[in-house]
Amino acid sequence: MSSPVTAYLLLGSNLGNRVALLRDARARLAATAGQVVAASALYETAAWGREDQPAFLNQALAIETLLSAGELLARCLTTEQQAGRERLERWGSRTLDVDILLYGPAIIDQPDLTVPHPRLAERRFALLPLAEIAPQLVHPALGLTMADLLARCPDPLPVRPWLGDGVL
Ligand code: AMP
Repeated sequence: MSSPVTAYLLLGSNLGNRVALLRDARARLAATAGQVVAASALYETAAWGREDQPAFLNQALAIETLLSAGELLARCLTTEQQAGRERLERWGSRTLDVDILLYGPAIIDQPDLTVPHPRLAERRFALLPLAEIAPQLVHPALGLTMADLLARCPDPLPVRPWLGDGVL
């Protein structure tokens, strides 16, 4: 049997009960993709260039998985669809995004899968949660740690730790 790979995922949601959608996605991925060995705090970011849209909540996960990268992508897409199906009826919009940021040290360039995620180094909303759980992890193509990439990230959009909506 092959040994597990640590993959890093980014969850995002900007519609509906964002906290519940992220929580359900974590549970579904834990049941179908592998053990969740680290989870960042939730961070809130304004929707890029779309001021009419609600802000996103994002969270990075580390998952120890026995799945291939392609199989992991399929589980991520199923998890999105399962969240989207519920939402589609009420909101007409997809509410959950699950991206593979890294899959161990692999560099993958296939039509349906690019790993490391091609925009990771330019997106503060991905780098900040990832650097929280894996600051010394080295980007396999750029050769810099997540902490270094975050320090150099040009993205001007503020990313704030999410403190809840005040509803008990
Ligand atoms: P989007 O809805 O914009 O997140 O795009 C989803 C599509 O991007 C998926 O159907 C994948 O085939 C493709 N894709 C390519 N690389 C990745 C990645 N690293 N993580 C997730 N999806 C990816």
